Amino acid sequence: MPEYKMLDELIHYCTRCKLDLNHRIVALVEGAPKKVLCLTCQTQRVYRSKPPPARRAAMGKAAAAKQAQEDQWMQKINAGSKNPKPYSMEAVFKVDDMVQHNVFGLGVNTQNVPPDKVQVFFSDGMKLLKCGKVS
Ligand SMILES: [Zn+2]
Repeated sequence: MPEYKMLDELIHYCTRCKLDLNHRIVALVEGAPKKVLCLTCQTQRVYRSKPPPARRAAMGKAAAAKQAQEDQWMQKINAGSKNPKPYSMEAVFKVDDMVQHNVFGLGVNTQNVPPDKVQVFFSDGMKLLKCGKVS
């Protein structure tokens, strides 16, 4: 672990600028940075050594994508028919039918895939399911 001194500069994620920027150490506790000051916007924040910013950005994107998917799913559920059909391999579904699946939960049929499959949008994504004959 490197040694830090008061007023040393280091790269830290600025939550206001939303960037990795030069920060100055303004408080030290037992040789470890405690508070840092963004040299760009002059705000102080608690120093954090982890997680690495690149990783955090990637996780943020994945979380945002998941949120967008769930929003889309919610819209589909709200727009679909109100009486979900229990899923079975013999059941026949129409597009926009709600599907109640034992494992995946509630979904909406977005597409019939002949001869015997449906593409169903569940909260955790699209699933291709076997069903009765469709056209
Ligand atoms: Zn800043």
